[in-house]
Amino acid sequence: MEALPNSVQARDLRYLLHPNTNARQHEVTGPLVIERGDGVYVFDDAGNAYIEAMSGLWSVAVGFSEARLVEAATRQLRQLPYYHSFSSKTNAPSAMLAERLVNLAPKRISRAFFTNSGSEANDTVVKLVWYFNNARGLPNKKKFIARRGAYHGITVASGSLTGLPSTHRDFDLPVIPVRHLTCPHHYRYAEPGESEEQFSERLATELETLIEQEGPETIAAFIGEPVMGAGGVIPPPPGYWHKIQEICRRHDILVVSDEVITGFGRLGTTFGSDLYGIDPDIVVVSKQLTSSYQPLAAVLFSGEIYQAVADLSSRLGSFAHGYTATGHPVACAVALENLDIIEERNLVGNARKVGATMQRGLRKFADHPLVGEVRGVGLIAGVELVADKSTKAGFPVPGVMGAAVFDEAHRQGLIVRAIGDTIAFCPPLIIEEEQVSDMLKRFGRALDAVTSRAKS
Ligand code: PMP
Repeated sequence: MEALPNSVQARDLRYLLHPNTNARQHEVTGPLVIERGDGVYVFDDAGNAYIEAMSGLWSVAVGFSEARLVEAATRQLRQLPYYHSFSSKTNAPSAMLAERLVNLAPKRISRAFFTNSGSEANDTVVKLVWYFNNARGLPNKKKFIARRGAYHGITVASGSLTGLPSTHRDFDLPVIPVRHLTCPHHYRYAEPGESEEQFSERLATELETLIEQEGPETIAAFIGEPVMGAGGVIPPPPGYWHKIQEICRRHDILVVSDEVITGFGRLGTTFGSDLYGIDPDIVVVSKQLTSSYQPLAAVLFSGEIYQAVADLSSRLGSFAHGYTATGHPVACAVALENLDIIEERNLVGNARKVGATMQRGLRKFADHPLVGEVRGVGLIAGVELVADKSTKAGFPVPGVMGAAVFDEAHRQGLIVRAIGDTIAFCPPLIIEEEQVSDMLKRFGRALDAVTSRAKS
């Protein structure tokens, strides 16, 4: 294949600091340069094709070559390439997108605020909730409750909400008042003999106990992903969300549903909140909102929050929070077109239908000697690798086996993600049945290759 004009040579690659990468090892092996995309496939600069079974970073719903999104961006760039949202100004795409999101979102939601990333959106959530409680005359009600294993972003406040030790250690986080509860992962954290329902009950009691200890008057909000993503793809045990939100309501604690991964069809419903009966005060969306063709995220929130915030800001003179690119017209135009495509092609239905095939296919690996648990819903799944199936014991050095399968999958033309020793799958919503069976075959070959190497 002819090199694209902007392709890079290996010697040019050393100037970047790569996220989520072992920098020393990376100096030896170098990064993989992805050069172009086509549907669910991407191609590296040597022309090798990969099924992109992670949609990039859980985000490219419509695949890697959607011309309509390129045209929507181009049209908007010609018409109005940029305008801000400060000082009572807006642009048509951002106003239209806000209306559309509010109409799609769970019932309490009636307002939208745009940011560039999920992390900025969750930082905005923190500030909005604090401002709301100051507006309500509840200045002590400021703590957040999150879960261990949660991912809510990487900036100073959203990174504090995240419950992954590697994102805190030596970054001096958390810096906001946050308490992390047990990760709702039955396979790992249930007590011996505890059913999924009993596990949910125990986690609800843990929440109630924490609220009593801290004092409900100090706790502002509970934040959770309907299905945890970056923590290892963890669907909640049955009954979990109902119990959690009932307790939160009783103590006047806001429920924040972080739908950055689950929004717009990933679980086979428009929102994860729809699937689990969550009735959130705040919903955070990003990623599949634009299929990541443009950076964009939104905080969607209730009329009650809006009213209190609006009243306080008129007393103070303005709502002094926003970004240069808040409501960026190009990103919003791309989002509108992307949501049209998701609707017209019934990609939510596709996630349900093809997702069921993917879940069935992956569960066949449950008998594999390396596989401890296969879990997931819709078009998102995790396969947890273990050293001993009967005791669920992990490997002597966590992450090494996951990395081996990740590398071997690349050799088989498959991009997955290794989260420690859990292999994550999150293919584009456009994926077809045959592509899923191809994906499963490639994964099977990778798993077998690693197993026979481990034995020899
Ligand atoms: N929330 C969730 C649930 C996420 O998965 C992510 C990103 N993986 C974020 C927030 C942060 O988004 P961003 O990387 O755009 O800052």
